Amino acid sequence: MAVDPLIELHEVNKHFGELHVLQDINLTVGRGEVVVVIGPSGSGKSTLCRAINRLEPIESGTIRLDGQLLPDEGKPLARLRAEVGMVFQSFNLFAHKTVLQNVSLGQVKVRGRRKDEADRRSRELLDRVGLASQAPKYPAQLSGGQQQRVAIARALAMDPKVMLFDEPTSALDPEMINEVLEVMQQLAREGMTMVVVTHEMGFARSAANRVVFMADGRIVEDRSPEEFFTDPRSDRAKDFLSKIL
Ligand code: ADP
Ligand code: MG
Repeated sequence: MAVDPLIELHEVNKHFGELHVLQDINLTVGRGEVVVVIGPSGSGKSTLCRAINRLEPIESGTIRLDGQLLPDEGKPLARLRAEVGMVFQSFNLFAHKTVLQNVSLGQVKVRGRRKDEADRRSRELLDRVGLASQAPKYPAQLSGGQQQRVAIARALAMDPKVMLFDEPTSALDPEMINEVLEVMQQLAREGMTMVVVTHEMGFARSAANRVVFMADGRIVEDRSPEEFFTDPRSDRAKDFLSKIL
C-alpha cells in the first residue's frame, strides 16, 4: 500500500525532569490507517498521544499533521488541533450541559457553525453511535459506555482528520466495553485514520493495520497485528504479551 502520511513523527524526544519519556520516536500513520499502541503502564503511550496534538510540548524532533508542522501556539495551533479528535479514558463531558449541547458546543465555538446546523450534525452523530434518544439527557443520567460514545460523537463533530483514543474503555465496566469498541470498529471500517492506545487485544487483532509496541519511551516494535501477536521479536513484547493474553 502506498503510504499517504497523515501523521509523521520524526526523532521526537521529550523528558519529564530526569525521565526520558519519549526517546527518538519515529512514527508515520497513513491516511485511513488504524494504529494500535500498546505497552506497559508508564511506557509513554499517553504522552505520545498528547504530543500529537501538542497538549505536551516536545523538546526535539518534528511532528507533522497532513504535511504541516505543528505550530507552537495561537490560532494556527487551535486550527490544527481541531483536526485531531481526542477521546480519553475519562469522558470529560460537561456535566451541566445536555448530551446534545456537549456535541454541539465545539462545532459552534471552534468550527463557527450556526447552532441549528451544529445541532443537526450532532443528532446525526448521536444516531450513528446509537444514542439518538439520549440527546436531551445530562451525562450523569447515562451509563459509562453511553458517555464514552457521546465523547466519540463530540470528537467526530469537529470533522477531524484523525482520531486519537487513549484507553477509551479502561474506565468502563466490562459489559460496556463492547458497545464502545463496536463504534470504533465501525469508524475504522469507514476509513477514519485512528491511533488507539488500548489493552483490548481483540480490537487490535481485528481493526489494526499496525501494532506499535512501546516500552520505556521507545517504539520497540511496529508491525502487523498477525506478526506481532504470533511472533513478537523483543523480550519486552514477549513478556508483556505473556502477562495480558
Ligand atoms: P502510559 O500512558 O504508557 O502509561 P504516560 O505517557 O502516561 O505512560 O507516562 C510515561 C511516564 O511519564 C510515566 O512514568 C509517568 O509517570 C510520567 N509522566 C507522565 N506525565 C507526567 C508529567 N506531567 N510530569 C511528570 N511525569 C509525567
Ligand atoms: Mg496512559
